[in-house]
Amino acid sequence: MASIFTKIIKGEIPCYKVAESADFFAFLDINPNAKGHTLVVPKKEVNKIFDLEEAAYLGLMTFARKVAIALEKAVPCDRIGISVIGLEVPHVHVHLIPLHSMNDIDFKHKVSLTSEEFSTLANSISEAFDTSEV
Ligand code: 5GP
Repeated sequence: MASIFTKIIKGEIPCYKVAESADFFAFLDINPNAKGHTLVVPKKEVNKIFDLEEAAYLGLMTFARKVAIALEKAVPCDRIGISVIGLEVPHVHVHLIPLHSMNDIDFKHKVSLTSEEFSTLANSISEAFDTSEV
């Protein structure tokens, strides 16, 4: 069965999209640790990150870096944190989280956003995203 993220990539389930390339897709986490919490996923469905082919792994990290640069421009923060867990959704995803403190990346503290706030955030990150070379 297709993962929830494959359904999002295919547009079968809505999301707040941030960026897309031929092989990768970025969208806002629906239960964010902090404003701007973004997930970056390969379109090809693979469960565990270190099972990716080396080229796909490096491509994912290159794409995630571009998203992180846009995120830091769009969302005021001290820095962008990165985490890979995958215990909930068995489809590789990189968490990019704007950090103000360690609480923002402990996955215990969550923020609640309106759909308008999600849309505004996704648009700002998307506008800051460098679409060259993707
Ligand atoms: P993990 O698998 O890394 O433990 O966590 C999965 C992450 O995906 C969680 O942060 C969760 O909020 C997010 N997530 C789960 N289902 C959806 C969904 O349908 N849409 C979005 N945008 N995020 C989701």
